[in-house]
Amino acid sequence: MIIQPKTRGFICTTAHPDGCAIQVQRQVEYVKGKPAVKGTRNALVIGASTGYGLASRIVAAFGAGANTIGVYFDKAAEGARTASAGWYNSAAFEEAASEAGLKSFSIVGDAFSDEIKDKTIATIREELGQVDLVVYSVASPRRTHPKTGETFSSVIKPLGGTYTNKTVNFHTGEVSLASIQPATEDEVRQTVAVMGGEDWEMWIDALRDAGVLTEDATTVAYTYIGPEITHAVYREGTIGRAKEDLEATGLRLNDRLSATGGRAFVSVNKALVTQSSSAIPVVPLYISVLYKVMKEKGLHEGCIEQMYRLFSERLYGGGETAVDEKGRIRIDDWEMRPEIQAEVEQLWAALSTENVYALSDLEGYRKEFFQLFGFETGAVDYDADAEPDVAIANLR
Ligand code: NAD
Repeated sequence: MIIQPKTRGFICTTAHPDGCAIQVQRQVEYVKGKPAVKGTRNALVIGASTGYGLASRIVAAFGAGANTIGVYFDKAAEGARTASAGWYNSAAFEEAASEAGLKSFSIVGDAFSDEIKDKTIATIREELGQVDLVVYSVASPRRTHPKTGETFSSVIKPLGGTYTNKTVNFHTGEVSLASIQPATEDEVRQTVAVMGGEDWEMWIDALRDAGVLTEDATTVAYTYIGPEITHAVYREGTIGRAKEDLEATGLRLNDRLSATGGRAFVSVNKALVTQSSSAIPVVPLYISVLYKVMKEKGLHEGCIEQMYRLFSERLYGGGETAVDEKGRIRIDDWEMRPEIQAEVEQLWAALSTENVYALSDLEGYRKEFFQLFGFETGAVDYDADAEPDVAIANLR
């Protein structure tokens, strides 16, 4: 089958198996080229197939030599439909981990469900005994509560008033104004239920109760703060409420885990091109400007660079992990440097359809977006026949 990108708005409905494998291999090589990380031996990554979760799993395995279990929600190829990018990424990861002599297992299904938690616990028990690291990196538009059966949807909306700012169609380069109506209280409640900390806490409780978490285990989940430009729609909007809940959960979990020598953190990561961030209005344009400024200053990082720095310097850097006044790890420190933000603001004010390619790295954004799905890698013949049906080794 000839596999080409097919886009519908902010999503690409096809993925290329060989291109995804190359993207994973590049991340593996990056980590192998760095000094080893001394830390985790057995890691569980929830939301492990793309973005920050995949990079976390790669650093745990190829940086620290850890055995890993990855939990994710991805689809295999079916008929004329390719598998999802996360499926192909995970197939490539499992292969690379096996070649390196590392144990690794994939659990595909809804992380919010009791069934997948039980399956994961059984796999840990049978294969690894216990895990000493749990990374929680799920980003989802929906969640069905395992106890009440209620299905919640998350929305990205401001609170209190309508928010208007510049946004871009990154396929065409058209810059326009996006206006988003404020959320209702119920939309806030639902977004917190999907993207807040409840499920992370349920995972940690279930793992502890089952005795499959080491006493000194570390757990980390990811959050975002970002610049003034996006505050109304992100940090001070519905998703920000969910992140506040996640951060409060982190503090609570830390109190509980530290009683036996364990730790819980929330890490504030940098804004990056992922499937989740491309769906947020305004954010892709901000990322394009940020990329231009950070690349010019030699400070640009992708998911893998961010996660390597998180593991090697913060989580397992030796000594106390540095945190901000709210107890959060700040791996967004380079993004938030005042001189970077001042330059972004200046460019932002001048942005229009006419100058967007000159004032931002929109071309870089667009390319990375397609690379998420295994396209535009520069290393695959996209006109050649490809086999969409790829099996994942070690699938539970
Ligand atoms: P992503 O879309 O690349 O990855 C999400 C992962 O969650 C995938 O592996 C997917 O399979 C998995 N997933 C989704 N629903 C699931 C379900 N029901 N069960 C099991 N797995 C499920 O997202 P990302 O951008 O890497 O985001 C991960 C975390 O990092 C989020 O908390 C996000 O808010 C945070 N973060 C992202 C950015 C950014 O700019 N991308 C910045 C800072 C923090």
